[in-house]
Amino acid sequence: MSFPLEHLVRPNIRALEPYSCARDEYDGDQALFLDANENPFDTGLNRYPDPHQRALKKALSALKGVPVERMVLGNGSDEIIDIVIRSLCRPGQDNIVVFSPGYSMYEVAAHINEVEVRRLDLTPDFQPDWKGAEAVSDACTKAVFVVSPNNPVGTPVPLADIEAFCARFPAFVVVDEAYVDFSTEPSAVGLLEKYPNLIILQTLSKSWGMASLRLGMCFSHEYLAGVFSKVKAPYNVGGLTQRTALETLSDLSGYREKMEAIKAQRDRLEAMLRACPWFERVWPSQANFVLASSPYFRPLYRYLTEHKVVVRVRDIPPRIPCALRITVGTPEQNDRLEQLLADFRPED
Ligand SMILES: *Cc1c(COP(=O)(O)O)cnc(C)c1O
Repeated sequence: MSFPLEHLVRPNIRALEPYSCARDEYDGDQALFLDANENPFDTGLNRYPDPHQRALKKALSALKGVPVERMVLGNGSDEIIDIVIRSLCRPGQDNIVVFSPGYSMYEVAAHINEVEVRRLDLTPDFQPDWKGAEAVSDACTKAVFVVSPNNPVGTPVPLADIEAFCARFPAFVVVDEAYVDFSTEPSAVGLLEKYPNLIILQTLSKSWGMASLRLGMCFSHEYLAGVFSKVKAPYNVGGLTQRTALETLSDLSGYREKMEAIKAQRDRLEAMLRACPWFERVWPSQANFVLASSPYFRPLYRYLTEHKVVVRVRDIPPRIPCALRITVGTPEQNDRLEQLLADFRPED
């Protein structure tokens, strides 16, 4: 298969002969499997899982409108981030570009793989600094990582900006859409056909409520999906995960109901924080959390923790000074938070 950006994949990975699993050669069920040294006594878990996750990918393909050939699944997006960096970047030589605030796993994965990170601040309106990314890029830059909607503010990146950047950037553009289902800005999946340098990450951890399950998705050009599939461990997504994900995905009405509730509670949380005198600034969010700054962010954090409500301190100058990021809870959980905020006194 011809792929115009093949030269951006590490040469040793391009040449890699993948591990061939025992089960690769036979994809029927109903056989007598004596090929993989499994325990023959049926426990429901005694067989290796499908290394290609065919059934799950089929369901995800229908849901996301992305062909199976463009899809790679992993043990959360976190595993996929590592696979992307490992497949593209030569250790000690190549680099990636990230924005701050962003998602720390890009840098962790890069450092584990001895890949240089070129970090830029988001613009004052929390958008990627596209021009800056181009300016710091060189022939060894393999990818720019963008989060949309971003974390910890919840601002989406307009699709037109992503498209314009993909059209002119000579390396990969990784768009992490962990929170896209909460947003009114559409996913970038519609751009995949047009831009072979676009890589999209999604996850079942947030909107689908399956953080414990660990299922991340990567959508890309099919050549690249082939590369990532070679690099991943053959059985990286366990059988229980595949089964449970399939079951959960089949309950679309349950999903929609919970999503509506979360979005309604997000709007309530935003209004609640705006009305609270201890917060200075509350940012509008298109994700499932709300960021709010406060001169009392440390005492507030301590006070909430003492009352067994755990939020996240986000103090990331220059863009995000002195803020708390609060995840949207159930109506009852938000009632509790509201009550505690009403009882808070800074001098305590
Ligand atoms: C939560 C989150 C993820 C999800 O990671 P998983 O490993 O799939 O749970 C990915 N990216 C960002 C920016 C996130 O905030």
